[in-house]
Amino acid sequence: MSERVFSVGAARAAIAFALVIAGLWGCSRAPTELVVYSSRNEQLIKPMFDRYTQDTDQAIKFVTDDAGPLIERLVAEGAKSPADLLITVDAGDLWHAAERNLLRPVDSPILRQNIPAHLRDPGNRWFGLSVRARTIVYSTERVKPEELSTYEALADPKWKNRICLRTSTYVYNQSFLATMIKRSGEPKVEQVVKGWVANNPTLINGDTKILEAIAAGQCDVGLTNSYYLGRILAKDPAFPVAAFWANQQTTGTHVNISGAGITANAKNRANAVKLLEFLTSPEAQQSFADSNFEYPANPQAGVNPLIAKWGKFKQDDTNIAAAGEFQAAATKLADRAGYK
Ligand code: FE
Repeated sequence: MSERVFSVGAARAAIAFALVIAGLWGCSRAPTELVVYSSRNEQLIKPMFDRYTQDTDQAIKFVTDDAGPLIERLVAEGAKSPADLLITVDAGDLWHAAERNLLRPVDSPILRQNIPAHLRDPGNRWFGLSVRARTIVYSTERVKPEELSTYEALADPKWKNRICLRTSTYVYNQSFLATMIKRSGEPKVEQVVKGWVANNPTLINGDTKILEAIAAGQCDVGLTNSYYLGRILAKDPAFPVAAFWANQQTTGTHVNISGAGITANAKNRANAVKLLEFLTSPEAQQSFADSNFEYPANPQAGVNPLIAKWGKFKQDDTNIAAAGEFQAAATKLADRAGYK
């Protein structure tokens, strides 16, 4: 993926800087540009940053790439890194960055108040910004919601040759299995995954492709992040696939996060913390989640009307650090269970 660099609000910063140069006494110094490394798409974060720059004159530059290369870049740059904030779209990536000492803890009552405990690092090195629910999706033509209950129940033989699953190697499924392991232990999860495999699932490399396969009749149920369905339904309200909130009577629906942490070598730490606090505020949270049909991490924020129709759901409250902690265990378990 080619890297893209944007300078947000450079004009405003330039004006502020000019005022300082002009020697206006009592005028505060132009804030130094904040640098954000992000694996979240530019179109999903730029509107937030533009708004923040408008309100505060804080210029923000951002670099987008996949999480792996961004983390390696932070390691290679070391103390010289210009990055103040790291944003990723999977808790496992944030966990890895924290394990490699690339993030420094933030002691902020605002962040702790805005973000529920299961969606942030117990060591305060990273914080969830949006919630991505990975749940059961089904054909509205061939499945009744009453037939569905839990992830575990998809191991029932009645789903033989009817399931579409994403390959186990993708990070969304690794994080999904990792949190299940943290909650239920390896033997139980292995038994469930073996049950899925025994049902001869169609393995598909992409959440959108799973939804399309269900609509096309290739399978009847699947597991995807709910925002992929939101994106399709926004364009095609008659799309014959619906979301079912898994495990509502038991452990809750699995959630992952996109989230952020302040880098260990941040040059503008105080201002980076302010930006992070802004991103967790109810108003910023609503647009942050809205732009991609995700759920805000801050429960005070509203949700997009399209997904509000799906109703409220109980989240699995296992701390999402498990996505990193048990990632290796999840990969090995999938191998043992024959889940490719
Ligand atoms: Fe995604």
